[in-house]
Amino acid sequence: MSEALRDTDAVVVVGAGLAGWRLSEALRRRGFTGRLTLIGAEPDHPYDRPPLSKQVLAGTLDESELSLERGDESTTMTWRLGTAAVGLNVAARQVTLANGEVVEGSRIVVATGVRARRLAVSAGDRMHYVRTLPDVRGLLADLARARPVAPVVVIGGGFIGAEVATSLTHRGHRVVVLEALERPLLSVLGPTVSQWLVDLPSQAGVELRTSCSVRDVASEGDEFVVELADGTTLRASAVVAGVGAEPNTEWLAGAGVTLDNGVVVDGDFAAAPGVAAIGDVARFPWHGPTGIEATRIEHWQVANDHAAELARLWTGEAGVRPPLIPYFWSDQYGAKVQVLGHPQPTDAVRLVTGEPGAARWLALYSRNAVVSGVVALRSPRALTLSRSLLAAPTALDDAVAQAPWSR
Ligand SMILES: Cc1cc2nc3c(=O)[nH]c(=O)nc-3n(C[C@H](O)[C@H](O)[C@H](O)COP(=O)(O)OP(=O)(O)OC[C@H]3O[C@@H](n4cnc5c(N)ncnc54)[C@H](O)[C@@H]3O)c2cc1C
Repeated sequence: MSEALRDTDAVVVVGAGLAGWRLSEALRRRGFTGRLTLIGAEPDHPYDRPPLSKQVLAGTLDESELSLERGDESTTMTWRLGTAAVGLNVAARQVTLANGEVVEGSRIVVATGVRARRLAVSAGDRMHYVRTLPDVRGLLADLARARPVAPVVVIGGGFIGAEVATSLTHRGHRVVVLEALERPLLSVLGPTVSQWLVDLPSQAGVELRTSCSVRDVASEGDEFVVELADGTTLRASAVVAGVGAEPNTEWLAGAGVTLDNGVVVDGDFAAAPGVAAIGDVARFPWHGPTGIEATRIEHWQVANDHAAELARLWTGEAGVRPPLIPYFWSDQYGAKVQVLGHPQPTDAVRLVTGEPGAARWLALYSRNAVVSGVVALRSPRALTLSRSLLAAPTALDDAVAQAPWSR
């Protein structure tokens, strides 16, 4: 358990995204008046990412609406934006920046999140990814120049790919989604539920091609040629890839924190004495209903909850910690898909409302007959009512008998 911060402490937060900002804001709101420095690789002040692939790309929300700063806390912090951290000295609690500056604190927080996984293709930098505001600005600028004859090709039918396809269709582009597996989300939601979702793209006017591996993407003048593993090619006016993410941990190599698919932390987010990690970059022991899992979860709500919890710990608030119930949503093809818990694709699935493939439904995932997750299509109220099933271990049969989703 970490000691409570004193006002002589200095907190250095590396990563000015959701988790880093929410922690800093919460520390101020909880009365911490010591020095607080936020270091961010991006030039922008903290902004919200989920709307990037949704409303901002669709053109229904202006980027000026994305700021996470609500009160005047930001004026009480020292900002180092547009310069990445390149090294950490755990013993001295010093962070070295790309511009050579060394920032010292008594506590360091790693909140550097993840970056989009890049495809090694000939088109190189002309490929698009959607992770940051500059990514979206660049994609929109290219699309404004693109010839409308060829479709936009989205590589990857997962959550980001589906949202990008939906938003670009809303903007009037013809979109083709290329998915390497038999069905989108097969490796995330498993065979049963991915089958129930498979018709969503065509219902929204998006062409989905499955079992389609991309061998290369080459640029040819203003256009692109996408070459598939079976030798066929496809012309595109722009190519966007949503093929996963990688934790931003390279700057911590040799620093003395454990790196293993993220920064490994204990139950109090400690990676080393005086060093914590939160948000997408943190691999933490999640106390789930089916046991303790060392996991890294790339969800907006989890980053928020980590920040709130660490602020509570560091400002000395005692008391029972609320259970962390991972929550994720995705707005794709005109539907809201929501996930509670951390279901695995190999978990058993029981449909409890709606029909397979229907417009709305809710399903329970279970492992060893204990509820491990809840997944819903267009059923936000039923999903919220099902939270109790994940607050403590719940036997599948008891969950079905209780049916909290129908209250
Ligand atoms: C397009 C998009 C759509 C999404 N949609 C959803 C959704 O619908 N639902 C959902 O639950 N989640 C969604 N997410 C995920 C959600 O946004 C993340 O879980 C959340 O942003 C994680 O917060 P974070 O602070 O850990 O990381 P981030 O918000 O990524 O912040 C990390 C920050 O650290 C900075 N950084 C990285 N390396 C360094 C360095 N060396 N030095 C200094 N700074 C550094 C980065 O530039 C970044 O600003 C989406 C994400 C994206 C990109």
